[in-house]
Amino acid sequence: MSPIHIPLAAPELTEADVGAALEVLRSGRLSRGPELEGFEAALAEFAGVSHAVAVNSGTSGLHLALRALGIGEGHEVLTTPFSFVASANAILHAGARPVFVDIDGETLNLDPGRLEAAVTARTRAILVVHVFGRPATMEEILEVARRHGLRVVEDACEALGGEYRGHRLGGLGDAGVYAFYANKPVTGGEGGAVVTRHPEVARRVAALRNQGRDPADPDRYTDFGYSCRLTEVQCALGRSQLARIQAILERREAVARMYDRALRGRLDLRLPELEPEEGRRSWFTYVVRLPERLGGKHRDAIAAGLEARGIQCGRYFPPIHLLPPYRRAFGHRVGDFPVTEAAAARTLALPLFGGLTQEQVREVADALVELCVRPQDVPTPTSRGRGAPYE
Ligand SMILES: *Cc1c(COP(=O)(O)O)cnc(C)c1O
Repeated sequence: MSPIHIPLAAPELTEADVGAALEVLRSGRLSRGPELEGFEAALAEFAGVSHAVAVNSGTSGLHLALRALGIGEGHEVLTTPFSFVASANAILHAGARPVFVDIDGETLNLDPGRLEAAVTARTRAILVVHVFGRPATMEEILEVARRHGLRVVEDACEALGGEYRGHRLGGLGDAGVYAFYANKPVTGGEGGAVVTRHPEVARRVAALRNQGRDPADPDRYTDFGYSCRLTEVQCALGRSQLARIQAILERREAVARMYDRALRGRLDLRLPELEPEEGRRSWFTYVVRLPERLGGKHRDAIAAGLEARGIQCGRYFPPIHLLPPYRRAFGHRVGDFPVTEAAAARTLALPLFGGLTQEQVREVADALVELCVRPQDVPTPTSRGRGAPYE
């Protein structure tokens, strides 16, 4: 296996970002300082809401947002099984039960038409994920929530900068969550944030991230809390990147357009829509769907073949309900969510980051097409993706 020379994701740090981080290190103020305040103000403005609270990961953001909205023991939260496992894990962290609802085969997002049938007397919220940065059909989802008195939390961890009908993703529900892990377009290595229009939700998230202490008066303990603070270095990095977010997003979109040109009309690959009708996509990775005959083990062989050529790719997402801990705890089995399972067997995430060149995009596209023509020739490796930086 050749080492990975085209990773799935790569941070795009400028000298200005590095300088901002160094300045913090030299300042001696490493946590809960001016960078946190500045980053939060910039995030709230960006999301088009009044409040943002930065935390140590996207998962923490989801967990604390749910708790701040009063979700806990005995409650059910409707969510998608086609997501990064973090979204369902966060519901469990809050003490509630994730109730999966199958996706729409076109958008790969929660199918709003199936939500209502899953509502019970215990349902309190919908955790909607904008999968691969594609906006979910928020109007329909918010309508179901209104009808049943449910809270809506947006997992916008893959969707920073995406829009639904002119509104930034993350700013449409009761709370929205962004993530700043190393494979995200804005990154501090790790990190997350909750954005919200509700001052009380923001106050509670801020208390929960710091041991349940009142943000306005740390001698007052208002909640059982956690330790989920973000460092000043991470906030400085995030703030510095957010200051040029439009350039970051545009560059990623340009890479997606390169893929589209390099792949459109070749074989029967299904390419992501450049301009979905719901609104603006934020390009997290470039996810193609293979034709049915190339799904499952063929898809895995194609992924292995790409990695053998030094091109990292992602088999996003394994259905959450079929992951061993979820099967054990909730008795899910194959066939429970057929649209998710069919999509999961055929999706392949290709590298996408701003620094990707036209030549690299062409190399990935050509390798993919070649492997799709002859997937049976690809040897199955014993370990995959070793040395690959992020998954
Ligand atoms: C990245 C991501 C998260 C958050 O991940 P963390 O590693 O906790 O920051 C949550 N949901 C989705 C869909 C993600 O892609």
